Amino acid sequence: MDADEIRQAFLDLMVESGHVVLPRATLVPEDDPTTLFIGSGMQPLLPYLLGADHPAGTRLADSQTCLRVQDIEEVGDNRHTTFFEMLGNWSLGDYFKAEQIPQFWHFLTERVGLDPSRLYVSCFIGDAAHGIPKDDESAAIWTRLFAEAGVSAGRAEVDTEQQAARVGVGEARIVFYGSKNWWCREGGPEDMPVGEPGGPDSEVFYLFPDVEHDPSYGEHCHPNCDCGRFIELGNSVFMAYVRTETGFAPLPRRNVDYGGGLSRIAAAAAGTSDIFRISLLWPIVERLQQVSGRAYADETLAMRVIADHLCGATFLAVDGVRPANKAHGYVLRRLVRRAVRFGLDLGLEDDLAELLVPTVAAVYETAYPEVAAHVDDVVAVLSREERAFRRTLRRGISHLHDYRDRGVTGAELFVLHDTYGFPVELSTEEARRSGIAVSDTWRDEFDAQMAAQRARSQRARPRPPGPGTGRHH
Ligand SMILES: [Zn+2]
Repeated sequence: MDADEIRQAFLDLMVESGHVVLPRATLVPEDDPTTLFIGSGMQPLLPYLLGADHPAGTRLADSQTCLRVQDIEEVGDNRHTTFFEMLGNWSLGDYFKAEQIPQFWHFLTERVGLDPSRLYVSCFIGDAAHGIPKDDESAAIWTRLFAEAGVSAGRAEVDTEQQAARVGVGEARIVFYGSKNWWCREGGPEDMPVGEPGGPDSEVFYLFPDVEHDPSYGEHCHPNCDCGRFIELGNSVFMAYVRTETGFAPLPRRNVDYGGGLSRIAAAAAGTSDIFRISLLWPIVERLQQVSGRAYADETLAMRVIADHLCGATFLAVDGVRPANKAHGYVLRRLVRRAVRFGLDLGLEDDLAELLVPTVAAVYETAYPEVAAHVDDVVAVLSREERAFRRTLRRGISHLHDYRDRGVTGAELFVLHDTYGFPVELSTEEARRSGIAVSDTWRDEFDAQMAAQRARSQRARPRPPGPGTGRHH
């Protein structure tokens, strides 16, 4: 099954079980000023999970496009992307564990056809100090499902991922973790404000046996190990408690919030631990191979970065974002500029948007026809940004290399930013990869220059009424 078929199979299953399928929300949240982008499927549903009535009822599902730029510089391994899709289903005071867990299991093993013996799960270990029991209920359901599939499912208990790496979990298939398996909006049970909902969650992982555990992540591998041997396919949150003055009370209306990574499920289905080989990303990589004459095996990092960033930039542009020096527009700018920079590594001077946006549109033709409908606008927006950046890129890089011998300060990075339009994250990254030392205090130096420039431009025009805007980073 390719990713399109998996998405459709999920949504079909949801309709069969009485869910209303919602259209994707745009990447820029409509009524939420606290966050720049939709970073998970549950984000647009949060008001309803917190108690508001949803007009479409108590059983909802969707496939939601998401953007996470927090670890943009990590993109390049086999499973992280800034742009991705999350399959989601929600029960708003409707079904709970007894329906959710078998439903997810059925989807993975029957509809997608994953081998049950490759699946591992995690459950919440409990929190005695706050009177929250261990999630034996979920574990018992998992045990029964594994048994019905003829798979033995031993258990292990570890408090933290560090402990799991240190002592190992043996052959256990059901692993109890501490706060890793507790969902709330911030921190753990102890930090939650009174009135805040929370609950245990239960994740499902897929084992890629031919990926060797990397001991730099700890002595032993375990489902939450970050080495890439296990990939998390999805997580079911069981929102069951509310924080009180003295501890926790049961929520009057319990919710389920499930989110699953479409690309990761597609990678498991395709038997590859490399999500760039799935049907949503591989056509873009193939196009890059074709136009650059280079092989993915030799240029893995650059091709992964470009494929991911062009997808993200395309959807941002489709959703109305335009390049700018702050907020959403700055992220779009960073994605495009970073892709252009990695394009140089492939010897590509061609316009990446012209080369790749039509491929992105073709990939999403069925699921998100709005991409194909806007392809000309998107190419125009992204190409303009690319052209402007290309003009200064080479000069900027060569200027940065002038600092090779003595290192570069934050004030000098500011000049690069100011003169060449070099996003500071890109110049620090460039410095790192070229072995140019960056001063330890570069961020403070850079911010000071930025603030000084802002003050100069404020003096140049009348001060707007109202309180100061403060600093935002
Ligand atoms: Zn590992």
